[in-house]
Amino acid sequence: MPELPEVETVRRGLASRFVGRMIDGVEVGRERTVRRTSRDALIHGLTGATAIAADRRGKYLILPLDTGDSLMIHLRMSGRVLIEPASSPRLAHTHVVLHLAGPENEQLRFVDPRTFGEVVVFDPDNAAVELPELARLGVDPIADGLGRRQLAALLAGRSRRLKAMLLDQSVIAGIGNIYADEILHAARVRHDRLSNSLGQAEVARLHAAIGGILNAAIEAGGSTLKDTQYVDIGGEGGWFQVSHRVYDRAGQPCLTCGRATIRKVVFAGRTTSFCPRCQK
Ligand SMILES: [Zn+2]
Repeated sequence: MPELPEVETVRRGLASRFVGRMIDGVEVGRERTVRRTSRDALIHGLTGATAIAADRRGKYLILPLDTGDSLMIHLRMSGRVLIEPASSPRLAHTHVVLHLAGPENEQLRFVDPRTFGEVVVFDPDNAAVELPELARLGVDPIADGLGRRQLAALLAGRSRRLKAMLLDQSVIAGIGNIYADEILHAARVRHDRLSNSLGQAEVARLHAAIGGILNAAIEAGGSTLKDTQYVDIGGEGGWFQVSHRVYDRAGQPCLTCGRATIRKVVFAGRTTSFCPRCQK
């Protein structure tokens, strides 16, 4: 599933190739993609509109429009946002197509084989009603910044297993299974530690790891795994997967200590990879 670095990579692409271009036609194939409202709501909300910015909150893409509404895109499991020439063949599972005005004759295409993704036009002043989970998101470590003292307060104020807390979008927005494992390994703390048990040095390491891993992954264009569909708006995969130290490396030697083997367990319902030697 795309996480903060992948969604941020898509956001950057949209900022350069979608913002400022008027939408002069909207097609909706699969109704499930627009299930939160309706096919008509998307068509009426977007036809003639122009995105004026490309923002991100956690894993949510938010594009304010010149109409006062905003466009929200969530990739969920397998969603892809592509900008392609109108003349290029459409991929299977293309559910929404936005025709962009201008001589380039390009389209924004939302492709989503598993159909968990969403494309919605909403009123940002009424977000608490129209997109309640957006209103409940916690701090975004990249868009908002996450200070060390702020993180220390979030950890101290809870007695939760670290990995469950990192995955909780209402506490910190944008981290999913891959980056939670990589962050915890870089911070040298175990997934099952209680959040309020961390000492000052551990909090400092976790803080550095959150920023360090997420920023390095953004620089690499995100992670594209064998079993996922993630690509940027030009159709290119990311390459941060070659830098993964624990995720999907169970049974292989730890690249940090070189002396232990990466273990895989199921924790809080999720596959979790860690080094039993590096992480305490
Ligand atoms: Zn190790």
